[in-house]
Formats: sequence, C-alpha cells, structure tokens
Amino acid sequence: MSKLRFYMAMTAAKLSAVALRLLGRNATYLPGLIALKNCKDFIGFLQKPETLICVTGTNGKTTTSNLLNTVLTHNGYKVTNNSFGSNVQAGVAAALLLNSTFTGKHKNKVAVLEVDERSSLLVYKYITPDYLICNNIMRDSLKRNAHTEFISYVINTAVPAQTKVFLNADDLNCADLMPQCKNRTYFGVEAERPEELPKGQIRDVCYCPVCGGRFAPDYLRFNHIGRWHCTKCDNKSPDRDYCVTAIDRVNHTFTVTAENGEHTFRLINDNIVNVYNFCGAISLLRAFGLTWEQISSAFDAGKLVQTRYDTLDAGNFKVTMILTKGQNPIATSRVMNYVSTCEGDNKCVLFLVDDVEDNINNSESTCWLYDCDYTPMADEKIGRLIFAGPRCKDHYLRALMTGIPKEKIVLHETTADAASLVDTDTYHDIFILYDNYRLDEAVAMKKQFAARGEVKA
Ligand SMILES: [Zn+2]
Repeated sequence: MSKLRFYMAMTAAKLSAVALRLLGRNATYLPGLIALKNCKDFIGFLQKPETLICVTGTNGKTTTSNLLNTVLTHNGYKVTNNSFGSNVQAGVAAALLLNSTFTGKHKNKVAVLEVDERSSLLVYKYITPDYLICNNIMRDSLKRNAHTEFISYVINTAVPAQTKVFLNADDLNCADLMPQCKNRTYFGVEAERPEELPKGQIRDVCYCPVCGGRFAPDYLRFNHIGRWHCTKCDNKSPDRDYCVTAIDRVNHTFTVTAENGEHTFRLINDNIVNVYNFCGAISLLRAFGLTWEQISSAFDAGKLVQTRYDTLDAGNFKVTMILTKGQNPIATSRVMNYVSTCEGDNKCVLFLVDDVEDNINNSESTCWLYDCDYTPMADEKIGRLIFAGPRCKDHYLRALMTGIPKEKIVLHETTADAASLVDTDTYHDIFILYDNYRLDEAVAMKKQFAARGEVKA
C-alpha cells in the first residue's frame, strides 16, 4: 500500500513539474511539496545517489553548495543539487525526484544538497549523508532558526553517526557539534590573524560546555569566529586539518595547508567569510577523492557561480551588488564590514533591507537591527548612506545610535527610484546591499546605473 502511495505521489509530482515548466515557472519546490503531501515518507522510497553530500550551517550554505557543485561538474561528475531552489524538506524532495526515474532510481552519481538546519530532523530521518559540512552556527532570524543552542540540538539529534563531518574549527559552536560523528575534519583560517579584539559585536559563544568556565579569546576575527580557550579547563578550539595559511590580496590567491600537502588557489572573492567557505569545500572535496589540481582547475576556469555578488564597471563609476540576509544580524554585519574594506575614498551605499515580504502575513520584530554592527557604516570613506524602503526610519534610528552623522544619511520610503538619489559625479564607488526579497529592485537599479554610464548591465 505504501509503495502504491509512493508511485501515486511520484506521478503527481512529476506531472506538476511538467506543468510548471510549461508555464515558465520554477519547479524547485512545489513538486516536492506535492510528493510529501501524498506520501510523507516519500524521500525514504527514493534511491539515493552513490555519494550524498549535504551542506548546512547558518551562513554560507548556498555559496558552499554552488562551489561543490561547480568543482564536481568541472571534473566530469553529473550532480543533483538544489542550489537554486528550496533548502527545506520539500526542496530536497524536489531535487531528488526531478533527478529520478518514475520508479525512484537516481540518475546521477553525486548529489550536493543544501539543507536548512531546522529541516534536519525531516531530511536525515530518510537519508544519510556520506559527507556533511557545517560552516558556522550563529544567531539567525528570530522567525527562522533563531538561537544557536536550539539549532545545535536539532542538528545533533538528526545527523546519523556514520556521516563524515567537516566543521569550522574557528567556530566553537561547530567544534562540539554532532558528537556522535567520529569521522571529523576541521578547517579554518590562520592567515591575517587579527591583533585586536573587535569591539561592540555580539558573541554567540561565552561559556565552556565541558566545565561551565568562561571562554577567553586568543583572537577573534568577527563575532565569535576566532580561536578560544577555556579559563578553567583545557578545552580549546580544535586543531585545523585544513588551514588557510596565506591570503595574497594583490595577486588574488590563497594557500591551503594540510597534512597531505599544500596548494595555492585563485581567490575568486576576497571577503573573509568566503575564504572560510572555500577552505571548507576544499577539505570535503579532498576527502571525496579529488586532487588539489582537480579542485584548483575549477577555481582557475572562472566558472564558479557568484549568485550573491555582482559588479558593473561604468568607467566613471563602479557599482557592486551584494546580497545581505535580512533579519540575519551577523550576515548583514559582515556585508557592511566588507563594504568598509573595499576600495574607494568616497563611497555611496544603497541599503534595501526590510521585511516587506513578512508584512504580507505578519510583522517581524526589528530587534535584529540591534544585534547588527553598523559601525563600519560610520567609516569616513563612506560619504553617503541611503536607506530605501518601508523600514528606512528603523535603519536611520539604528544608524544614529551608532554615531553615524545624520548629514550623510538619506531616507527614501520607496525603493523604485532610489538610484536617482545617487550623484555618480560625486560618488564613484556605489554599493547596493539588498535582501532576498529586493533582488528585482536591485537588478533594476543596476540597469539604471548602466544606462546612466552608457554601458551594458
Ligand atoms: Zn572548560
């Protein structure tokens, strides 16, 4: 009976995918939802690929997933993945079923699946990843994954013990994660070791889980990412198996050192959070069986997808678009910090981050803005800060509390024509920070700037 239910669910899901494609719509979620509505243990009936790689953690899942997918594809593997779809249970089901036959036989040898942390219990109940990478565990949107201890508990409960795990050694929330998994590889970054502790940033790690003593940082890069030791017992950040030992920002390279050698890769994005993502992916790909050269050749080929970062050079001025995750204080803080480190003596930042999508059904608290570190926006090389959209006054208040001079802030309650507020004769380095729901507006802005610069968007 249950097998019959599976076939009926598969048929309904496959037909819905065909219909969606005929309508020109994305089939990355709904077919999975239909399958699960008709057969709640649908994923359990599907044959799994030979190798199943899963990616989880608060920030960097999509970047890491895209990277793994691109490197494996570059090396001749056909890969099932959900990078451009949903990472909850229905999205995972959709990715698997769309790459399966009607009888549930999987077509590709490898799958790279991004899995939302909170969906862990619903996904790993039916599939056992061969490899699982977790880049970090940080506080998240109150409405989504919220507290780090809750998310750690969910992951610890869900992941099978036989999975090989790849963990960020510089994040103590990751260090003790999934204790049932004994095959553990740690990665991290030693290069550009900071000399001073960051000020005014929230830290999601304070106390030692072994003895309850206070953790003291040896150094911190941002928030709780860095190296720690317990002041009462000998608990400390784990040693790294794969470590970024050099970052050359002039020649755009970085070097990864491991017990089995070292290799220098092309640095395709110099934001430190992405250096962590790259190192983690490389450690997993080495365990998968690729050589340093096979991995490196994909970096060199320039095929790595950067869905969250885009630039436009209009000659007289340059525009950089960066995705920030609204309601996610640390991801947003990191993007603001990155902008402050970018070239330019008189930058203009357009900020399109709000919760307008949430307002359709309800309203989320704006308290996450007070977990954000706005300090980088006070940098004197940022001459103009434009908050656009319905939450512009909330951002304004938060910016004033950080000590940002009100003279450099412009408020605009809509996003549609906010680009017209930028004087490109004065500001030659323009940044558009947008959240997921503002992608269309951000792309439209880029086109407006391209038209102004008489270049192609
Ligand atoms: Zn301790």
